[in-house]
Amino acid sequence: MRYSKNTILLVDDEEVVKQRLRDVIKDDYEVLEASNGQEALELLGEHIEQVAVIVLDLIMPVMDGFQFMNEFRRHREYDNIPVIVATSNEDWHSEQKCLEAGVWDFVMKPYNPVLLRFRIKNAIDKSRMIMAERDAVTGIYTKFKFYRAVRSMLMEETEETFAFARFDIDRFKMINNFYGIKEGDKVLKSVALELKKISTVFDKFVYGRVENDIFAVCMPYQEENVELLVKALQINLRKVNKDYNIKLSCGVYIIKDDTADVPEMYDRASLAAKSCKGKFVQSLAYYDEKMIENMRQEQFIINEVNRAIDEEQFKVYLQPKMNLVTDRSYGAEALVRWNHPEKGMMSPGEFIPVYERNGIIGRLDQYMWRHVCMLLRKWLDEGKTPNPISVNVSRVNIYNPHLVKIFKKLLTEFQIPAELLNLELTESAFMEDQDLIMKTMSSLHRLGFKIMMDDFGSGYSSLNVLKDMEVDYLKVDMKFLQDQEFNGKGEKVLTSVIRMAKWLHLPSIVEGVETIEQVDFLKCIGCEYAQGYYYAKPMPVADYEKFIAREEEMGAKSSTDENAAIVNELWNTRSGISKFFDLLETPIAVYEYRNNRIELLRTNARYDTEILFEKSVNEYEHNRRMQAENELLGEAFAKLVKGDICGPMEYELTQDVWYRVTVKVIGKRADTMIMMVTFYEISEYR
Ligand code: C2E
Ligand code: CA
Ligand code: CA
Repeated sequence: MRYSKNTILLVDDEEVVKQRLRDVIKDDYEVLEASNGQEALELLGEHIEQVAVIVLDLIMPVMDGFQFMNEFRRHREYDNIPVIVATSNEDWHSEQKCLEAGVWDFVMKPYNPVLLRFRIKNAIDKSRMIMAERDAVTGIYTKFKFYRAVRSMLMEETEETFAFARFDIDRFKMINNFYGIKEGDKVLKSVALELKKISTVFDKFVYGRVENDIFAVCMPYQEENVELLVKALQINLRKVNKDYNIKLSCGVYIIKDDTADVPEMYDRASLAAKSCKGKFVQSLAYYDEKMIENMRQEQFIINEVNRAIDEEQFKVYLQPKMNLVTDRSYGAEALVRWNHPEKGMMSPGEFIPVYERNGIIGRLDQYMWRHVCMLLRKWLDEGKTPNPISVNVSRVNIYNPHLVKIFKKLLTEFQIPAELLNLELTESAFMEDQDLIMKTMSSLHRLGFKIMMDDFGSGYSSLNVLKDMEVDYLKVDMKFLQDQEFNGKGEKVLTSVIRMAKWLHLPSIVEGVETIEQVDFLKCIGCEYAQGYYYAKPMPVADYEKFIAREEEMGAKSSTDENAAIVNELWNTRSGISKFFDLLETPIAVYEYRNNRIELLRTNARYDTEILFEKSVNEYEHNRRMQAENELLGEAFAKLVKGDICGPMEYELTQDVWYRVTVKVIGKRADTMIMMVTFYEISEYR
């Protein structure tokens, strides 16, 4: 027999009681009957879609009411089925126990028919409200409705293997933030519409919107069908708005045991979906048991955190930051290491992402700040003049309303000038709530802190953000140096990033510098600071102290890399050298020379008026002269690259206007040189 949606499940071992109950409600509802908890669970499994209310006796053989509630509660898809306990027992103790077990309401035996009907109706109304069947935005099933629909589909079809797919839209929050809620809703609606279309192709296909941007589908499993589904959704999404590239992350759990909880299937599919988050090509992943293992590992890391903090298992490691002009360190970045009693030294990659996902990172950050403050205090007490140490401030803390207070307290507690503690805020955090982050930053600035934008270029950085945000330093992500990602364009991009930072008067620190070639290159393009294994790996505090001591010993001998200093200053349009350069009465130009190619980087005012202007008589003449100049310089540069000497050359710019041209190398690395070319007019001496 098929039951309607208004079915009441009566659970009582006494036939007389059930009889009486049935008489009270049979005109309004259909009735299912069970004589104990066990039977009730079985019926519930078969009729989950139909059961609207359970009326439960407490004392029964086989499985009593409490045991039933225990089992019942373990199935999350039953969450919204109201349970009314029928009791003759006036013991408030058991009443409390019932409420704790998730019982909604009570009725007294023997029943007052009016009251009973009223209570049942109430419970149904309330649960309907909670689990409205259709989602208001998309019109498709809501979570509860979907879960129940999945359950009944699985019950009907015991032969077939089903797949449970769960997917969401990467960076959906960004769409909402940048394009508005309306646009976000448009995207959601189009997903729902596409699902509706796809559902007509399949016999069995249940789908719903679980929450926010998360949708789920249950369908008979066939690899090509699942792939088709994801592809169709993906193609459809691309059509919604071509401005932004929407990507899905879809996780699939192939249902092995179809009596398992639907929410559990959902969890497994979610776990799979997580593994394709943030990957540009992959949008589909299947659940496998390893994921559970990873989750256990994650759980372990989470469980251990409090003890690790209490026992100070987390250690501060320091990695020097190098000033490329003086070739000496200028402070360091504090990076956490976990010295676990059993697992040994763990690097942040193993636990930071876990803590970030779970919000625990907030505590760890503060632990690190504190320990860095303690360290600075110790150095100050020892009469040292430490350079600033920078600490990482993760996203949760950037949005922590007490952040400013916390730092203020640290400064007072340890009596540390704010200049000694620099703050690294990761770039991606700047994209979220810009107003809030700007407010926080100006409060931190008022306290005297310097702020670095960390990982610049690693995510969705927009140059606009840089312009609006008052950061003091730019930390450029190491991916630019790891060229592969850019097919060799990394250096070009890096050059323009540094140049742009200079226009904004932002000093840059490039991370991940591993080779001398990279150092030379960074000096060439006028980058101020570098951090990386080439100079030093992150090291324990004691080693850092030795590093500094050694540096101080050598201090007297070492000198500034003058060329790096000049290049650096030349890029900075506001710098003294740069102004001086423009005041010089001699035309000067700076070139980059690489693979026999010459590129003009910078000229002074005199060059512009005397040479460039003179060259621009007409296009033909201009090109001819440019070519002549390039040939002349090309020869000279080639000599210099080989290490040969290149004396001054004579050059006729235009008829009877002669220059003596000298070339000086001011920066070099493997295959690129920066040359300064000076033009002295010598026409009258000829
Ligand atoms: P990050 O802030 O970008 O830190 C730089 C990372 O690059 C560090 O990794 C550092 O060891 C590594 N690195 C430095 N030089 C080189 C190099 O030449 N080559 C290569 N390949 N890598 C280099 P680490 O210490 O493993 O930290 C990884 C990330 O974990 C950090 O990235 C940061 O986001 C996070 N982290 C580390 N310590 C903390 C902390 O105390 N608090 C917070 N919130 N995050 C931290
Ligand atoms: Ca950092
Ligand atoms: Ca970084």
